[in-house]
Amino acid sequence: MKRLVILGSTGSIGQTTLRLLSSKSDEWEVVGLAARRDADALLRDAQRLGVRHIALSDDEAAAALRKRLPDGITLHQGEQGLLELVSLDADVVVCATVGMSGLAPVMRALETGKDIALATKEVLVAAGEIVMRERERLGRVITPIDSEHSAIFQCLQSASRTPFCVRRGDAAASEDSIRRLILTASGGPFFFRPELDFDKVKVEDALNHPKWRMGRKITIDSASMMNKGLEMIEARWLFNVPPERIDVLVHPESIVHSLVEFVDGTQLAELSHPDMTYAISYALSWPERESRDTFGFKPPLLDLATAGTLHFHSPDPVRFPALRLAREAIAAGGTATTTLNGANEVAVQAFLDGRIRFSDIWRIVEDALANCSSTASASDLGSVFEADKCARSFAAGRIASA
Ligand code: MG
Repeated sequence: MKRLVILGSTGSIGQTTLRLLSSKSDEWEVVGLAARRDADALLRDAQRLGVRHIALSDDEAAAALRKRLPDGITLHQGEQGLLELVSLDADVVVCATVGMSGLAPVMRALETGKDIALATKEVLVAAGEIVMRERERLGRVITPIDSEHSAIFQCLQSASRTPFCVRRGDAAASEDSIRRLILTASGGPFFFRPELDFDKVKVEDALNHPKWRMGRKITIDSASMMNKGLEMIEARWLFNVPPERIDVLVHPESIVHSLVEFVDGTQLAELSHPDMTYAISYALSWPERESRDTFGFKPPLLDLATAGTLHFHSPDPVRFPALRLAREAIAAGGTATTTLNGANEVAVQAFLDGRIRFSDIWRIVEDALANCSSTASASDLGSVFEADKCARSFAAGRIASA
C-alpha cells in the first residue's frame, strides 16, 4: 500500500487523480488533501475517502471551515499548513497547485523523504536548479505529470530499457543520446486566427481552449503560448538538456504529446487520446505500466484511423513572443526564469480580472525581465523568493499605471 498526499486536490489534475485512483483503494491510501480555498469540495472528498488530514492555504477559508470541522479531521492552515501536510507519513506527493505556491511544499516533501509527481511546472521554472539538485542529493524521484514531459519521459524510458533478447548490462539513455526534445503545443484558441487583434481579446475567448479542459491560469498561459515557454524551462531542468536543443512544434490535434530526437536522427513520440489520466497514471505507476482496466476512470483509447490526419506547424515567435521571452530568460540565467514566472502569474491574474489587455501579458513579462536584476544566482531559495517578490511588485506597478 502506498500513501499519497495531493496538493491542489480540488483542481483539474487533483480531481482526475482521485478519479483515476477510485478503483485502487487496495493499492493507494490518500492521507492528505490540500486546496487553496474550496472548502466544500475538499471536505466532501476527505469524508468520502476517509482522509484525516486536510489543508487550506487561504487563511480566511481555513478559519471559516474550522468552525464546522467534523470530528476526526485535522485542518492545516496557510502556507505552513501545506508544509505540515507534506511532512505526514507518506510515499508520494502529487503537486498540482497553481503556480509558484508549490515550491516550498515540494522542497519540504523532498526533505522529508517523499517522491514527487509534479504537475506544477512553475516550481521548476522558478527554482529548477535548486529543486533538481535537492532531488539528486536526497535520492528522490520526480515524475512529470505535464503531458509533454510525461511523453518525453516515456520516450526516454523506452530508449533505456532494451528488449531482453538484446540486453547487455543496463543500457541507459543518457543526455548524450538526445539530439533534440520536441515539445508539441496545441496552439491554444488563437494560433489559427491570424486576423485576431491581441489588444482586443476577451477573457472568455482566451479561456475557450479547443482541446483541453484545465484551470484558468494554465488556460490563459496556453492562449498566450507562455505555457510552452514555461514547459521549455521545465524540460530544461527535468531532462538536463540545454535550451538550444529544445524545440516546439504546433500540433492542433494534441495526440502526439511530444517527441525525442536521438543522436542517430530517429524520433520517438508518445501518442494517446488527449486526457490527463494517462500522464497521471504513468507518473504514479512508473517504472511499471498499470492496466487501463484498473483505472477508476477510463478515457477513450486512441484510434488513429478515426483521428485521420494529424497536422504540424512551426510556432510563430512574432505573433506569440512568449517562446522568445522564455529562451531569453533561460539564456540570461540566474533568477531570470523566476522573474519571468512571477511577472507572468501577476499579469495573467490581472488579465482574468479585466485590468489589462491580453497583449499586455507579454509586455509586462518582457519589461520585468529587462528591469528586475537577474544577476543573482538561483542556487539558493532566498534569492529565488527575492526575485519572485521583485517581479511581482514590478508587474503590479505596471498594471496599476496601465
Ligand atoms: Mg503541458
